[in-house]
Parts: sequence; structure tokens; C-alpha cells
Amino acid sequence: KKLEGIDAEGLLCFMGYHQDISELEVMRKQLRESLIRLKNVSRFSDELIRQNERFRTLAYIDMLTGLPNRRAFFERGEKLLGSIAGVEGKGCVVMADIDYFKDINDTYTHPRGDEVLKEVARRLQGPLRKQELCGRIGGEEFAILLPDVGLMQAARIADRIRRYCGSEPVETRSGPIPVTLSFGVASVLKDIPEQSALQEALQNADRALYHAKQTGRNRVSLFQRDGSGAVPAPAFPGEPSPAA
Ligand code: GH3
Ligand code: MG
Ligand code: MG
Repeated sequence: KKLEGIDAEGLLCFMGYHQDISELEVMRKQLRESLIRLKNVSRFSDELIRQNERFRTLAYIDMLTGLPNRRAFFERGEKLLGSIAGVEGKGCVVMADIDYFKDINDTYTHPRGDEVLKEVARRLQGPLRKQELCGRIGGEEFAILLPDVGLMQAARIADRIRRYCGSEPVETRSGPIPVTLSFGVASVLKDIPEQSALQEALQNADRALYHAKQTGRNRVSLFQRDGSGAVPAPAFPGEPSPAA
């Protein structure tokens, strides 16, 4: 039988679906609301990620000086040492400690002591190159990692930093406060894991620092691995004498 407009052999297919239009409207509204909720969830999770990053940054920064804190110094230091081939040696660590800082607090008050700490942190970083790492590892104690540098070169750098730190008094809200620091330098062993190498070097740098304090402060001492232990840094030709 021939239908109007359609070939006799053609197949006419008609599919129908009946739904109440108001039901569709409800579904559309629910979908819209779900999308809004989804957007809010994603905004919330973005905010969580941002907050997390902020907390991570705070956990690694010393809030007073802005320097890497003890944890950051060790983590970054180990990573840095791991990236050095170190045929001759891995590098050196320097410990620096403000001289008679307790007296500074007692004489000028704790907030002025904080100002001195901030300025010392700034001065310590001044002569450093980008790959050299400086952190605040204690109250008025700082550590510097000098990758790929021999002991004598490290002592020369430490002495340069020492002179720069003590070159002029720190200008505070209560007027100028003179400041000096003592330094201990030690090399980093290359054939042990980075974590122990860094700890061992810092221990030896601390011995050298103790020597610098005992022999008059405002000076640099070295830790020698040949059995002589902590000794004064030599005078560097062409540069002012290490001792004040
Ligand atoms: P030395 O020359 O032997 O290093 O003597 P020192 O007085 O510097 O050393 P000592 O360890 O006796 O005193 C360190 C002082 O540093 C004591 C502590 O109150 C102070 N200090 C530690 N952290 C802070 C800080 O964040 N702010 C201030 N203002 N003082 C601090
Ligand atoms: Mg001190
Ligand atoms: Mg100290």
C-alpha cells in the first residue's frame, strides 16, 4: 500500500516518548543546582590546596628572619649535596653564632635583639651565591652550606661574611647596635649518605665554632680532619686579617 509521500518499499518508523513538561523542568532545576554545588566543591578544594601550600611554606620558613628554618636547611641541604658529583669533596658547612647576643637582649631589650637577628640574617646572605644555602638553625645560630668548595676556600668565604656582618652597627629603633659573629667551618664527607654527611659536618663545624668562641670570638676556626681538630683559620693574603 502506498502511503502519501513515502515509497511503498520504504519503512516508516515513528517513535514517541511522552513526558509531562513540568517533570522535565524539575529535572533541569536539579541539574542546575547540582552543577552549582559541584562548582562550589571544586572552588573549596582549590582553596584547600592553596591553604596547604601556605602551611607548607610556613613550616619551612623562619618567621622572624625569612630564612629557611632548621628543617628546611636539612632537607634542602641533603638534596643539594645529593646533586653534587663531588670528586674532590662535596663542599663545606659553616656555623655562625652571634657573639654575646644575650647581652644585646639584656642591654637593648628583646625586640631590639630581634631587629639585630633580622639584619644579621640579611647580611649573612649578602655575599652568598644562588646555590649556597643559609638557614637559621637555632636562636642566634645560622648554618651555611657551600657546595663543591674546599675547606680553605670555605674559610675565606666565611671570613668575608664575618667582616661584612660586623662592618657596621645595626640601625635599630633604639639606635645603632654593634654586632659580631664567630664562625666554624668543616668539610662534608663524600662517601656516606647525605643525611649523615650533613649532620657530621655540622657537628665538626660546631666544634670549630666553639674554638672560635674560646679564642676570642669574632673570628673563623676550621675543623681539620688530619687529627688536629679545631684550629684558627689562616690569614688570607690580600684580605684583612681574620681576627678582629
Ligand atoms: P656567645 O658569644 O658565647 O654565643 O654568647 P651568647 O650570649 O650569644 O649566647 P647564649 O647562648 O648565652 O645566649 C643566646 C641568647 O639568644 C639567649 C636567648 O634569649 C637569645 N635568643 C634566642 N632566640 C632569640 C630570638 O628569637 N630573639 C631574641 N631577641 N633573642 C633570642
Ligand atoms: Mg651567641
Ligand atoms: Mg648560640
